[in-house]
Amino acid sequence: MAAILRLLILVGIVWLIYSFIRRAISTSQPTQEKPNIPPATIMQQCTHCGVHVPQHEAITSEGLFFCSTAHKDLYLQRKP
Ligand SMILES: [Zn+2]
Repeated sequence: MAAILRLLILVGIVWLIYSFIRRAISTSQPTQEKPNIPPATIMQQCTHCGVHVPQHEAITSEGLFFCSTAHKDLYLQRKP
């Protein structure tokens, strides 16, 4: 009878440690779930076609933003 009690206590301690570790892992997970999304994505408008592109993906030239190098070249060609 005493052996069963000791086993139950041991199982209880193991379960407590297990749940503690699981809670520690689950609280640290949300920061790992979205590592590639910046806190605020600044959108810039293409000077040539007007499409909105994230600033880090936009092509910049002379302080202007473009959706692609093709549109940058087209805009600069049209410029007198
Ligand atoms: Zn464009």
